[in-house]
Amino acid sequence: MQNIQMTRGFMGGLSPSTTLKMTQKAKDMKAQGIDVCSMSAGEPDFDTPKYIKDAAIEALNSGKTGYTDSSGLLELRKACAEKFIKDNNIQTTPAQVIVGPGAKFSVFSAIAALCGPGDEVIIPAPFWLSYPEMVTAAGAKSVFVDTKAENNYELLPADLERAVTANTRLLILNTPSNPTGAIYRKATLEAIAALAVKHNFMVLSDEIYEELVYEKDFPHISIGSLNKEIAELTITVNGFSKAYAMTGWRLGYLTAPLWLSKKISALQSHLTSNPTTFAQYGALKALACGKEEVYKMRDSFATRRDLIYNLISEIPKVKSIRPQGAFYLFCDISACGLKSGEFCDRLLEEEKLVAIPGDAFGADNCLRLSYACSEENIRTAVSRLKNFCSKF
Ligand code: PMP
Ligand code: GLU
Repeated sequence: MQNIQMTRGFMGGLSPSTTLKMTQKAKDMKAQGIDVCSMSAGEPDFDTPKYIKDAAIEALNSGKTGYTDSSGLLELRKACAEKFIKDNNIQTTPAQVIVGPGAKFSVFSAIAALCGPGDEVIIPAPFWLSYPEMVTAAGAKSVFVDTKAENNYELLPADLERAVTANTRLLILNTPSNPTGAIYRKATLEAIAALAVKHNFMVLSDEIYEELVYEKDFPHISIGSLNKEIAELTITVNGFSKAYAMTGWRLGYLTAPLWLSKKISALQSHLTSNPTTFAQYGALKALACGKEEVYKMRDSFATRRDLIYNLISEIPKVKSIRPQGAFYLFCDISACGLKSGEFCDRLLEEEKLVAIPGDAFGADNCLRLSYACSEENIRTAVSRLKNFCSKF
């Protein structure tokens, strides 16, 4: 008799998302009345701006409750294309844009439409934990290239070139980065783009934290804007979750060369159809209005970044780069002598502080703290971490 529980496909063996698991764990503990301090969720603590919610409510009330084009409303794809052209200097058309149910799905659909068995996908480590699982789900192989804190976690072009083989199909870049908060400089992106063109592989640039940038010297730059050759090889992903505090709306979007957009669009048409219709009307409003609310949220993340970085810098056994974007602080805790999993388990047990172990991001000497929370929460978290580290 066959073992009914044995799966043979690529998708049945994935591990659950550690970030989502830990975030839920913190919520459950809070619900039980435990005084838990959570730095786990990669989710803005703000509500979605009212004008966006009103647009979705109006869409619902006016009967916008049926299917749309499976790649998203044409008006919204037009608005996304205009955004790519205006904000990112990426030349595109609405036919190349696909709106999906969350940037997570946009990233996956691009990987799955492009890669399969025999293909290699280069992922700089530390990485956002879903990339390798998505590559596995597509049947392709992840090739990790380590980056270092002293290089601001940038992928060194020489290291990248060493990892390239005849099977390299895709490189995944994420700037600003989850989990390090680092931002790539133009010169590095130019060198990486030159290698992609030379060796003929594609680049997926995940720019979901684009609006959350805090330093004049580290502006956000899209690799797809650098020149025509790299534009032909780049998929750029963005979304509404982080910039507009719309995590629960599940809306992301991408632009790709037309030949690939057609494949992604076909895939999405079978796997999800369109993203939620009335949510798309909210997104349309988000792009149509100015960025006043986005900048307000960004400014408060910037203040929290300064606060957490300054406080953490006072803990002798914890080291971190000063993050330039996103809302994460990635801390090297190797001086405490514990691997990240044991460190985070004990931190939770002994101090009731939830952090994400670095091994989930390919860096077992680190932990990730999300500072998308109140200043009071940040102060409590750092004092608990300090207390814990003083035991070593
Ligand atoms: N990319 C990165 C780097 C992320 O951190 C996230 C986290 N949510 C996503 C993509 C997906 O975002 P969403 O699906 O909420 O649009
Ligand atoms: N991306 C966020 C994080 O890293 C949300 C959780 C997830 O989607 O993984 O925490």
